Amino acid sequence: MHVDWDAIVVGGSFGGLAAAMELAGAGRVLVIDREPIGAGETSACGTLLGVLERLEALEALEQVHEEIVLHFEGGRSRRVGTRYPFATFDYRALCQLLFGRTDATFVQASVTGMGDGEVSTTLGPLRARLLIDASGWRSALGGAARPDLVPADALGLGIELRAPVVGDGLHFWVRPSQMPCGVTWQFPAGTSSRVGIACYRGRGGLKAPLDDFLDKEAFPDSTPPPKVHGGLIPSRLRDPVAGPVLLVGDAAGQCLPLTAEGIRPALVFGQIAGRLARQALDGVLTLEQVREQYRREVRARRHQYRLLEGMQAMLLRSPQRVLPMFAWLFGKSPLTGPAQRAYWELADPGLLQPGHDLAEAPARIGAAEVPEGRN
Ligand SMILES: Cc1cc2nc3c(=O)[nH]c(=O)nc-3n(C[C@H](O)[C@H](O)[C@H](O)COP(=O)(O)OP(=O)(O)OC[C@H]3O[C@@H](n4cnc5c(N)ncnc54)[C@H](O)[C@@H]3O)c2cc1C
Repeated sequence: MHVDWDAIVVGGSFGGLAAAMELAGAGRVLVIDREPIGAGETSACGTLLGVLERLEALEALEQVHEEIVLHFEGGRSRRVGTRYPFATFDYRALCQLLFGRTDATFVQASVTGMGDGEVSTTLGPLRARLLIDASGWRSALGGAARPDLVPADALGLGIELRAPVVGDGLHFWVRPSQMPCGVTWQFPAGTSSRVGIACYRGRGGLKAPLDDFLDKEAFPDSTPPPKVHGGLIPSRLRDPVAGPVLLVGDAAGQCLPLTAEGIRPALVFGQIAGRLARQALDGVLTLEQVREQYRREVRARRHQYRLLEGMQAMLLRSPQRVLPMFAWLFGKSPLTGPAQRAYWELADPGLLQPGHDLAEAPARIGAAEVPEGRN
């Protein structure tokens, strides 16, 4: 079969860039995204500080948080110290840094699906020996995680914006009277805060409660900026192999249930997929072995994902008065240490590698060479 590329990675965000970094030096790699690198932000950009440290990406750091603050009905709140500090970071800076550590070619185009072994794009069809889909919850190559295909309790929906307020700690408001199936948050990030709202059951209509929260609750004096972004949050593992394609991050439902933390798993699984794919390009593994091994790596975590899913379901059903008990269990009980460690290990930042030092690589952002007659 004639191939245009050794590997095509769809999605130039966390999962895709983590995979592409691992493929540096292994062959001709194409990263396709419908947005420029660093422009397609969906998240509140909160992750474990260990992730940025391990990736040697502290340049993108905005603020470190040693505490999570949970706010409940009636003005009650609980502070939960964490052994593993969190951090907020600049999305564009992180993506551009990671892309700089790949030697991939980038092309801005939309992927519209797959047919006959080819990736269909708005620039024409493309072929590669290896395909990695890290295009987020819509999963351009693996079949969309559409709301009608995924159970409602495994698909959240969130939106967020940047508000011109400062603070400290990651704050969550769990108040069913205002937001029946979800949470509101404020993540301070240097000179501003990321403020958002998410519903665990993927329902729309979040803009009005978010505006209400901004007006009445938290920041009555600030004028909210108009730019809101977000999307669906798929948090049930699906088969991470779809035909010839390795699915990574939200495309494979790898966002953690309960906490909706999806950046860390996308980076970790992205690197695992990229590392295995590299072995295929190096001739160490066959493509079939790569797919099987990647599937095994993901499936090895399925019990922990189910446990978090069960906790999420319990949280949604629990009466308001017991919610602070969850905070105690995770933050100040004898179970705190093991619970926090188990949560960390689910997508262990220790698995992350900084990536190759390709500082001398020429600028590669721009139009890829699409084979003649395919435009
Ligand atoms: C409001 C909100 C707040 C969140 N906050 C956090 C948080 O603070 N911390 C955390 O850990 N997780 C958070 N999450 C979850 C997190 O954003 C995702 O789990 C994470 O972004 C998944 O990374 P990814 O690389 O799989 O996909 P994405 O980051 O979604 O990237 C997908 C990429 O693919 C591109 N793309 C999509 N379709 C196509 C196509 N057809 N053709 C070409 N390119 C395409 C997109 O432009 C994008 O660049 C949040 C989610 C939401 C909705």
